[in-house]
Order: sequence, then C-alpha cells, then structure tokens
Amino acid sequence: MGLLEGKNALIFGLANERSIAWGITQAFKREGANLGISYAGEMLKKRVDPLAEQVGCKWVEECDVTKDDMIAATAASAAKHFGKIDVLVHSIAFAGRDELSKPYYQTSRDGFKNALDISVFSLVALTNAFLPHLNPGASVMCLTYGSGAVKVAPHYNVMGVAKAALESSTRYLAYDLGPQKIRVNAISAGPIRTLAAAGVGGFRDMYKHFADISPLRENVTIEDVGNAAVFLASDLSARITGEIMYVDSGFNTIGVQMNPDAKSE
Ligand code: NAP
Repeated sequence: MGLLEGKNALIFGLANERSIAWGITQAFKREGANLGISYAGEMLKKRVDPLAEQVGCKWVEECDVTKDDMIAATAASAAKHFGKIDVLVHSIAFAGRDELSKPYYQTSRDGFKNALDISVFSLVALTNAFLPHLNPGASVMCLTYGSGAVKVAPHYNVMGVAKAALESSTRYLAYDLGPQKIRVNAISAGPIRTLAAAGVGGFRDMYKHFADISPLRENVTIEDVGNAAVFLASDLSARITGEIMYVDSGFNTIGVQMNPDAKSE
C-alpha cells in the first residue's frame, strides 16, 4: 500500500515536465494519492493537460495566485471535487529578469512587490483560503532555496529575500495551524534546471559548482524532491512542522567551499 493512499493532494505550480511540481506529482501518484493540479495561466494549459492525463488527474484548475477571486474560486472548486484536502503543495515563484541580473540595490519597487506577492504572500493566501477544507493532520509545504535565503547566492537577489520571507512564513503558519494539527514545512532544494531557474543569472555555473562541491557530489533531481515531499505529506512526518528540510546533497553543510579534488600542498 502506498504511503499516501486515500489522501487528497493538491499541487500548485506545474508548468512542464521539468517542474519540481511534476517530480512531486509523480511521486504522489506512485504512493496512491488522489491528485489535483493547478497552474498559473491559460498559456500553460496545453502543457499541463497531457501531464495531468498521464497521472489520471481529473481536477486541473488555472489559478493566478495574484488574484484573490481566483484563489477563492479554486478553493471552492477543490472542496466540491474532493471534499476535504490532506496535502497542499506550493511550488510557485516569480521574479523579473532585471531583478535577477542587476545588483540587488537596484531592485525596483514594483519588482520587489511582485516577487514577494507571487512567491510568498501566495502561500499565506492559499493557506487561508484552503483552511476550512483541510483535514486535521493535513500537510502544507512549499519550496525554498536556503542557500539564497539564509546566505547570499549571487544574482538570486530579491528571490533570496522572498525565500527568507517564505521560510519565516512557514514557521508562522506552522505556529498558527498547529493547534488544528495541520503541519507546514518547506523543502530547500538544490539547483535544478527548470523554467524558473533559467531566469537566474549564472545558474549554469552554480549548477556545475554544486555537483563539484556538495558532499554527495551530485545534483538534485525532481525525483529526489518528490520523494522528500512524500515523506512530508505522509503520516511518517506527523510531528514535524515549521521545518526547512534540505534536499541538496549536503551542500548547505559546507562552510568553506573548496574544490575537493584540489591537491593539498
Ligand atoms: P517552474 O517549473 O518554472 O515552476 C514555477 C511555477 O510558478 C510555474 O508553474 C509558474 O508558472 C508558477 N507561477 C509563477 N507566477 C505565478 C502566478 N502568478 N500564479 C500561479 N503560479 C505562478 O520552476 P521550479 O524550479 O519547479 O519552481 C518551483 C518552486 O521551486 C519555486 O518556488 C522555486 O523557487 C523553487 N525552487 C527551485 C529550485 C531550482 O533550482 N529549480 C531550487 C530551490 C527551490 P508560469 O510558468 O506560468 O510563470
């Protein structure tokens, strides 16, 4: 029997087959969850529909998380289709290209607001809208990049600031929802080649550096993140909340980054 048998799981942020949301969707499917998928805009429909079909998902809804009415309509539609929800995955982020290439101090007011609205406030808004429909024991999770949130990742800029706010929001939401036995956690993934990552200046170098330096000497895949998400979604993690769980081949544990193959004098 799968670890998520009988659980209704909604995944927000599927763009294509490279999306972290797709790794999570496939892992949830393998573990027996009833799936629901949400995507950002009409443009993505033709990509998302065939993926949803592959995993036998019948609930596929467009939801632009900058729009309160769309969030409310999506929550109502999910409640009608599923009744109660057990797992809510937030795999959404956005920052403008300018914000991810210029120095951080040149971030525009609109660029800042937009990045924080889409990448952070959306978690709060979705949690609020879905709360009446979440089962006790439900698991909410989001995706972060700790190397850019807790420390500096060159070019990550406003997205790093957004991830710091997202990680903090994870803890505050976990505190608020704890008495209802609803858990809120974040997965901090190592760099993965996705649409969102392509917008970050210098991503290719960072990706390569990661595989050279991390203790496991390997990049992270969407399947790795999917498997960690299964753990957080399942009852195996019943007493874990407010946590940031790193799925990064151990990269975050390294204090001094040296090429491990460099010869010592
Ligand atoms: P992705 O496939 O591009 O997913 C990002 C998703 O956010 C897309 O589906 C995107 O839709 C959606 N989104 C943007 N604006 C939205 C809006 N207004 N309303 C609803 N959805 C919106 O890239 P990904 O790498 O899998 O990103 C998923 C999550 O993982 C993000 O939180 C990201 O920061 C995080 N993460 C990624 C990495 C990495 O290296 N890839 C590492 C750590 C954490 P559109 O395509 O239409 O904009």
